[in-house]
Amino acid sequence: MLNQELKELAIQLNLNNLRDNLDDYLLNAEQSNVSYCEFLKNVFKMEIEEREAKKYKMRLKKASLPYHKDFSDFDFNFQKSISKKKINILCEMQWIDRLFKLILLGPPGIGKTRIMVSLGVEALKKGYDVFFVSMTDLIDILKYRKDSYKYNLLYKRVLNAQVLLLDEIGYLPISKEEANLFFQLISKLDEKVAMVITSNKTFSEWTEFLGDPALATAVLDRLSFRCEIFNLTGNSYRLEKREHLFNE
Ligand code: ADP
Ligand code: MG
Repeated sequence: MLNQELKELAIQLNLNNLRDNLDDYLLNAEQSNVSYCEFLKNVFKMEIEEREAKKYKMRLKKASLPYHKDFSDFDFNFQKSISKKKINILCEMQWIDRLFKLILLGPPGIGKTRIMVSLGVEALKKGYDVFFVSMTDLIDILKYRKDSYKYNLLYKRVLNAQVLLLDEIGYLPISKEEANLFFQLISKLDEKVAMVITSNKTFSEWTEFLGDPALATAVLDRLSFRCEIFNLTGNSYRLEKREHLFNE
């Protein structure tokens, strides 16, 4: 009876974790003979933990990451052109507060997207809003945002993210109109958002990709202010760790 009353009070106070676990918590407290103080502290702690976990899940969903991997199983022996020490410093997230752009350059398969996604996961864990988008999808978002509810929603996520993860600049050529839309976005985000960008092209090749030298200079000028460039080298992880059906 009293338990039911307590549950209703928990509902009124939006204490969902307490509502769902009240019987267990009471039983546990009786069995382990904890003090009133300790009991109340544990109840509050569990409530906060559940809320944080829910918020993390929401942020993770909104981030649209292609997969959910942190650095715990990242092979630093394979990718030697970025040290574990540097990654650890990046995981402290000062670069986000200082609105830095991290630019990961290099050939396919060497872990650019993986490093970017894992930085995104670490940022999410620390409470930042993250949004992952490929360059091709970003261009679609910019082109169709005015005509489509879905693209408009995604456009807002781009604008509202604290960390924008922009994957694969330069893989596919873009038109002049698209390059212009991209430039407008970069100008709009300038000094407002931290970014990670991956590309298989060197900066000098970006001019060709963006089609217009003046525009490319303007984009690079904005991106290279407060930026850290990582020139990643090595072999493709996919090719080296390729699984085989036959052992011959
Ligand atoms: P890129 O974006 O440079 O083309 P990816 O990040 O997509 O390469 O890496 C290709 C695959 O290899 C992915 O499945 C990724 O998780 C894996 N991978 C790459 N580098 C590493 C690494 N150092 N440790 C563990 N997995 C890696
Ligand atoms: Mg990639």
